Amino acid sequence: MKILSVNAGSSSLKFQMFEMPEETRLISGVFERIGMENSFYTIKINGEKIKKEKEIKNHKEAFTTLLEELQENNVVKDLNEIKGVGHRVVQGGEYYNKSVVIDNEVKEKIKELSILAPLHNPAALIGIEASESVIPGAVNVAVFDTSFHQTMPIENYLYALPMKWAKEYKIRKYGAHGTSHKYVSARMNEILGRTNTKLITCHIGNGASISAVKDGICINTSMGLTPNAGLMMGTRCGDIDATIVTYLINNYNMTAEEIENVMNKESGLLGISGVSSDSRDIEDGISKGNSSCILAQKMYVKRIVEYIAKYYVELGGCDAIVFTAGLGENSISTRREILDALTVLGVKIDTEANEVRGEEKLITLPSSKIPAYIIPTDEELMISRDTYNLI
Ligand code: ADP
Repeated sequence: MKILSVNAGSSSLKFQMFEMPEETRLISGVFERIGMENSFYTIKINGEKIKKEKEIKNHKEAFTTLLEELQENNVVKDLNEIKGVGHRVVQGGEYYNKSVVIDNEVKEKIKELSILAPLHNPAALIGIEASESVIPGAVNVAVFDTSFHQTMPIENYLYALPMKWAKEYKIRKYGAHGTSHKYVSARMNEILGRTNTKLITCHIGNGASISAVKDGICINTSMGLTPNAGLMMGTRCGDIDATIVTYLINNYNMTAEEIENVMNKESGLLGISGVSSDSRDIEDGISKGNSSCILAQKMYVKRIVEYIAKYYVELGGCDAIVFTAGLGENSISTRREILDALTVLGVKIDTEANEVRGEEKLITLPSSKIPAYIIPTDEELMISRDTYNLI
């Protein structure tokens, strides 16, 4: 059975097609600059990457082009072979603790929840509607970034604000990257050969979050009402004193929008280093002795270590630490600095094993009290699995 996994952004559409249940990846790619000048798309098939420039006015046109490519490349002969389309949806609020088949009610809820994810949920809806009109025979499934975190106990997801705000304004911790935390924790349990485990999963990419996962269930996570909570990130500040916002408004004439923009797009590694949000540039700066890059990296690692320590205590120990996403999979120095800072917990890095990028691997010594693993994430496969299972 062929399943398409899609991730629609406001001007982009990422896709992968799988043969299920074998989980064979048939084709993948991304449409960029949809609705803008110079739109183009890239596809990867049989180890080859092809880039094509084409005017793509909207997501429906992107879907139509995608279907043409699927047929031209003999991935599908007949569109009826596509039985399901799984859509990544960022915010599922309190409504969804698992993936669901999309009907009108689900679409209404995704729309209603746009208030909590103004950039992402409307884009997902556009993608869903484009898919419905272009592949009418397929079942559409919503896979929410938040659903894995719905198992958090109330004392972990509430903020210490008036209860009225939680009840009426829905202000609480929802978390994000749930599909990734779910995927890597399930894979970690497979490697450990049991499900009664205490795991700390570190999804550290441009956006970054850490989860505490007990017996396969999320009990805490670092992201909050929005994805700008918890860790320091590429351009996001993560946890700060909330009063900084009113301080800036009252004393420096800044608007709420300006502050939010800076906190999301000009903070984090970029804000502190003044150089870049990309850890490769930070590493480069450090090698040249750039003191702002050195400071940015120190702050970045410190916050990750703080969360790991917090979750170690909350879980009452830890059976494995998992690294995933852009930095987690590829930044040798960031992993090394984090694990070195955890020596007090009996963590012992295997520096040689750690010299890898993008590979599933144990990176601690046999004598380490807690093993640490790199597990490359695969959100698209997770979306495809959920879609297949619901069909
Ligand atoms: P997103 O949150 O956008 O999905 P990714 O998980 O793809 O982000 O992570 C992207 C980030 O990963 C980059 O900004 C960079 O900081 C980091 N990264 C990617 N490759 C490397 C590498 N080889 N070495 C160090 N850092 C890397």
